[in-house]
Amino acid sequence: MQGKVPKTENYNPGIKCLVNTCYYYADGDHCKAQKIEVQRRNATTSEETDCATFTKNQQSMS
Ligand code: SF4
Repeated sequence: MQGKVPKTENYNPGIKCLVNTCYYYADGDHCKAQKIEVQRRNATTSEETDCATFTKNQQSMS
């Protein structure tokens, strides 16, 4: 099984994510991770934050 947390059938409506190379990414810019973790502590700009749950999608895009 790929990924750190379970992948759910339904996406989380509270998350918009554009990272289409992520295992949890779903069409429409949705995230199907059961939960996500965002880092990092003491960040001062949005550029200093990112999703730690990201897992590269190893499947081909075909
Ligand atoms: S796990 Fe993070 S990077 Fe992956 S689709 Fe969800 S919010 Fe985006």
